[in-house]
This record gives sequence, C-alpha cells and structure tokens, in this order.
Amino acid sequence: MQPETGNGVSRVGTHDRAEDPLFETLARVERDLNDLIGGLALLGVKRCSQCRRFFRCADPGALFESDQIVCYDCVPDWWSSLSMRIGVDERERIEGKLASWLRKYHRAEVVKVTPGNVPDTTNAKFQIAAKCLECSGSGKLMEGERCRFCNGLGTVRIVVPK
Ligand SMILES: [Zn+2]
Ligand SMILES: [Zn+2]
Repeated sequence: MQPETGNGVSRVGTHDRAEDPLFETLARVERDLNDLIGGLALLGVKRCSQCRRFFRCADPGALFESDQIVCYDCVPDWWSSLSMRIGVDERERIEGKLASWLRKYHRAEVVKVTPGNVPDTTNAKFQIAAKCLECSGSGKLMEGERCRFCNGLGTVRIVVPK
C-alpha cells in the first residue's frame, strides 16, 4: 500500500537567497569594494565616472571635477553629450570651469571665431565653445565697441592642441 502523496511533500532543499553562500560572498565582496574605493579617495585616488579608471588627485590635469569626475581622455565625449542635455545656465557654469581647466593644465588656447571662416582644426585634439570672458559673452566692451577678443560674437573656441 502506497501512502497518498499530495500536499505533504516537504522541500527541505530550498534556501533563502540570503542564506545562499555565493550570494552572501558576493554581497560581502561588494561591501569591501565600496569601502576600498572610499579609502582610496582618502589617499588621493579618484575614479573617472566614465571609464571607471583610477587616477591620482595629485595630478590636477588628470581629472576634471565638476558635478562628475571625468578623466582627460573622457572629457571630449563626455562634454559633447552632456552639453546637449543640460540647460544654458548649467552649461555656462561647467563650460567656464572646463575652459579654465583646459587652459591651465592642457595648454589650451583661446581662439577667435571669424564669421565665415572655418577654423583650422588639424592640430587640435579637441575644442569646445565657451563664453568670451573679456566681454562676458555680450560681444561688446565697456565703451560699447565690438569686443575684439571674440569679434563681437560673445563666444570663443577653446582649442586643445594635440
Ligand atoms: Zn575616463
Ligand atoms: Zn568678447
């Protein structure tokens, strides 16, 4: 005589995910990793938000820090996609910081844009548009004359040489 089988089957073999040794190990590794990244920041090592590589903060030209931390190699792609997505105020704020960082650490030059003239970019690694600092983007100097630093356009090109 076979006893009737039905609902009484016990499933001793099933475990909770939290009790799974592999899951537990992974969670611990993840915690350790986050602690490690926090520790590295204390030692002056920070991570690029784009390529995830680590850089020493002692080299001020390695990482551009604004709302995000971005390494020099990632700056061109990061900026071209970010600048499309943000508003004018935010763009001008980051663009100003970026322009002075590029000039300070990467020999970037301010280049006037001449209307109707395509700038020569063969020797440029990359370039960004930035507000002219001489006229604060108005295109006019105090006396009302056309700003000679930006040809009255209010913007200049910040060109980083190769
Ligand atoms: Zn990077
Ligand atoms: Zn100007």
